[in-house]
Amino acid sequence: MTIAIEPNPAGIYIHIPFCVNKCPYCDFYSITDHSLKKEFVKALLLEMSLYKSVPPVSDTIYIGGGTPSVLKSKDIGQIIETVFNLFKITPDPEITIEVNPKTISPGSLKGFKQTGINRINIGVQSFSDDNLKFLGRIHSSIEAKEAISWAKNAGFENLGIDLIYGIPGQTEKSWLLDLKTAMQFEPDHISCYTLTYEPKTPIYNHMKSGFFSPMPDYLAGSLFELTSDFLENCGYIHYEISNFSRSIDKKSRHNTKYWSDVPYIGFGPSAHSFDGRQRSWNVRSVKDYIKNIESGLLATEEKEVLSKEQHIIEAILLGLRKKEGINISNFNMKFEINFKEVFKETISDLREKKLIILINEQCRLTKKGTLLLDSICAMFALNEF
Ligand code: SF4
Repeated sequence: MTIAIEPNPAGIYIHIPFCVNKCPYCDFYSITDHSLKKEFVKALLLEMSLYKSVPPVSDTIYIGGGTPSVLKSKDIGQIIETVFNLFKITPDPEITIEVNPKTISPGSLKGFKQTGINRINIGVQSFSDDNLKFLGRIHSSIEAKEAISWAKNAGFENLGIDLIYGIPGQTEKSWLLDLKTAMQFEPDHISCYTLTYEPKTPIYNHMKSGFFSPMPDYLAGSLFELTSDFLENCGYIHYEISNFSRSIDKKSRHNTKYWSDVPYIGFGPSAHSFDGRQRSWNVRSVKDYIKNIESGLLATEEKEVLSKEQHIIEAILLGLRKKEGINISNFNMKFEINFKEVFKETISDLREKKLIILINEQCRLTKKGTLLLDSICAMFALNEF
């Protein structure tokens, strides 16, 4: 079948809801009881076949979680094959799998590679054993390094690693050591996330109970600037607040869709979908998910149609996360408003404070502005339009 290339192809996300252990800071949906793994894979394949809308052409498949690498490559292969059979996929899709260093081996990585996966993202988080212990990770620094080498040997030419900073007790020196260790492996992509304390997570409760103090904002801010300067000096493109790539073609094509208001379809428990106007998400519980799908129903828990105002503010928030910011003429065309006119006072205030830059048709944050993204978006939201 010949697939017509569209200007903004959609993405397909698959959520694998199993983890070996639950990390205390994590608020993604996953469970450590793997007894329903087989039934889950069956239900996932069925869910895709129950998809009734006309699917948009997609150029990315992202297998995330949870920990997708707890599944066998045979299962992953079947999932990818089903996506290709049921959906319109462009000839050169980016197919990503997230893996946890403790759940892979040279053999399993070769197996994943044979399924057609061409991008791997390894959840390293830190190269310090003390930090890994604080984060409740099940792997050690040596295992993280081994995982990266194995992935390279398995032939993955698009390799990303995730790191976390802002860990209590971390210093500029110790964080720099993590970044320098990462550089030894020359990853194609690095995501550096700040440790956040999501309500209801165990780490949040520990922090609230006074077991430790979170890193002060000023220090987390200076680690952010250090990260950006260091990785840019190493030749990486800081293309989104938390994301760096070695070249333009090594940006995460899939995640860029989330920041660019492009549709995506999500399958699996708790997976979110967006069709350009409406957001929907699946039930979280694996049991309920399987029950719904087995009875021939979709597993959608809720749908939400964005009002024009919500959509505009969300597009500003997401657009400003990207290095290139918001393309004003595209924005005006899409939302039928005059961005510069509607947000005139906010723009002039933010420019005066040197928080945003407006050049030609692009509106983007300065480095200083990047640290204040949420407050900046709140200022845009105060306007009437
Ligand atoms: S391995 Fe990842 S998805 Fe699983 S609990 Fe830890 S952070 Fe969450």
